[in-house]
Amino acid sequence: MIIVMKSHAPKEHIEHIIRELSAQKLKPVPLYGTERTVIAVIGDERNLDINHLRALPSVSNVMPVLKPYKLAARETKQEDTIIEIKGVKIGGTELSIMAGPCSVESQEQMSLTARAVSKSGAKILRGGAFKPRTTPYSFQGHEEKGLKMIRKAADENNMLVITEVMDASQIDVILKYADILQVGARNMQNFTLLKKLGKIKKPVMLKRGLCATLKEFLLAAEYILAGGNQQVILCERGIRTYEDDMRNTLSIGAVARIKELSHLPLIVDPSHATGMASLVSPVALAAVAAGANGLMIEVHPNPTTALTDGDQSITPEAFENMMAKLNLVAVAVGKELPNKKL
Ligand code: PEP
Ligand code: MN
Repeated sequence: MIIVMKSHAPKEHIEHIIRELSAQKLKPVPLYGTERTVIAVIGDERNLDINHLRALPSVSNVMPVLKPYKLAARETKQEDTIIEIKGVKIGGTELSIMAGPCSVESQEQMSLTARAVSKSGAKILRGGAFKPRTTPYSFQGHEEKGLKMIRKAADENNMLVITEVMDASQIDVILKYADILQVGARNMQNFTLLKKLGKIKKPVMLKRGLCATLKEFLLAAEYILAGGNQQVILCERGIRTYEDDMRNTLSIGAVARIKELSHLPLIVDPSHATGMASLVSPVALAAVAAGANGLMIEVHPNPTTALTDGDQSITPEAFENMMAKLNLVAVAVGKELPNKKL
């Protein structure tokens, strides 16, 4: 951390800061200039209260050097985190493809979708049984009945299950059926939920909040990591901006930047990012080119009849076409697609 003092700051103000920092087991090194003094602080600064330092007399500016998200930061752990679930690796060179409908609607819909997407190479089946809906009058999900359906469809096709947990009270039932628990965008800063997920033994995929900065996103991941659960996957799904043509705005820059800032696996969700089926494939290709470790794609056997998010759901055929194109991009950026199921 660098503390810049106001010009001609009195010596006692500088000494006061030095005493405070030393008392916190840090090493303050004052660099006296002719007009201004700068104090370089050596040691782990992350527990310091920056606002308190800024309010001290004669302080002009305080500049942290280390990231406040200690466990999620690449500066703490250089190598990529790879999460392994039943032999499937997330975060390495193999792209993780999560596909399936927005909501679990019926056993037939789940089994059909699982068979089709696994044939194209998806190893992780998605589908919401607890749905966060904007209006209380829309379909809210089949809850445990839906969890049973997605588990059965996944088992039939040797796939993993990812599904959303909306509230801490749902954790136990979801743990019975799912391999990965998904925290939705609307819950990114539900700190009670995040703390509880820090205590479970299964991976958690955290989606970026609708208006979260990257720092807030990574600090939310930090809650789960700090609780003791190291198996955290990030998911960029676009944020809300003044652009209203598409459902959200996906920053390709953010995809590359998150990979710089954090060692955690990063999945991109082009379905919720765009809200339009026609954009899913091109945006998926761009996300992988920018460094994503995988994709989450909404696929429905008949999008026109989907109970939720039909506009952004692609058909199994469109999914197969996307995967063929993705193969070329993956090779270009040193990644590979999972083997297709025979
Ligand atoms: C979802 O994946 O079904 C979902 C609700 O996404 P998000 O939380 O990103 O809106
Ligand atoms: Mn959806």
